[in-house]
Amino acid sequence: MSTTQNKRVAFVTGGSRGIGEAIVQRLAADSMHVVAVARNGEKLAGLVAGLTAAGHSVEALALDVGDGMALAAGVEQIIETHGRLDVLVNNAGITRDGLFMRMEDKDFDDVININLRAAFVACRAAARSMIRAKWGRIINIASVSGIIGNAGQVNYSASKAGLIGMTKSIARELAGKQVTANCVAPGFTTTDMTDVLPPQIKEKVQEMIPLRRFGTPAEVAHVVSFLAGDAAGYITGQVIAVDGGMSM
Ligand code: NAP
Repeated sequence: MSTTQNKRVAFVTGGSRGIGEAIVQRLAADSMHVVAVARNGEKLAGLVAGLTAAGHSVEALALDVGDGMALAAGVEQIIETHGRLDVLVNNAGITRDGLFMRMEDKDFDDVININLRAAFVACRAAARSMIRAKWGRIINIASVSGIIGNAGQVNYSASKAGLIGMTKSIARELAGKQVTANCVAPGFTTTDMTDVLPPQIKEKVQEMIPLRRFGTPAEVAHVVSFLAGDAAGYITGQVIAVDGGMSM
């Protein structure tokens, strides 16, 4: 019998860095058992060691979410080991930016595969256990780009808009089983993903943000924590923007 049997189990993709790392920390602090998923096993091991030393219940699962079979098998293995999967956070995401007239097919396909198809695979693999339990929380990390679009990001914006449509459809299919599905749509947030932007672009972006600053991973994780809890049981099919007002 698993020692985590009394804790809710959360599966967080892209849990090794940035927003995903903050979500792992936050859900662990909410007393869940958290499975942190990413490709870099070493990075995950460091995160797990730190959180375990602080008294939290966390485990690492190194896999590439672009490999659908490995991802589905990973979700199933967690359900088998712990006998439950209560919260799924599809957070792993990539960018391959470029103007659309010059964009290669591969850059379009890779972004759709990681940002959208992987979320579909994980939702499908997780749903049965949630339906059986008549309790579940699916939280997909979209983006302001999926709401208002962004020049240079047709692939990324399409993947995130697709994620929003998929989440609303899943929400409708699973609502009768008390399983909710929602999106959190961050705006520009300080992580490795935005660190690559040149300083002059960062300044320009900041001028477009009503709150005049980038968000923090913790600010996104806070909303995920809320949606993952009992208090959010009457919220489904929604997109909650954490974007400093960009999409209002
Ligand atoms: P990040 O700092 O680049 O971290 C990405 C995370 O995803 C890492 O843990 C990475 O770990 C993992 N990952 C990437 N490809 C993966 C794969 N194929 N398989 C498994 N794991 C993979 O990104 P972030 O800024 O925290 O973004 C997190 C999410 O928020 C993404 O969905 C992103 O689109 C969204 N978002 C971010 C911003 C922003 O401004 N930062 C804004 C809006 C939305 P490994 O490399 O070890 O696999």
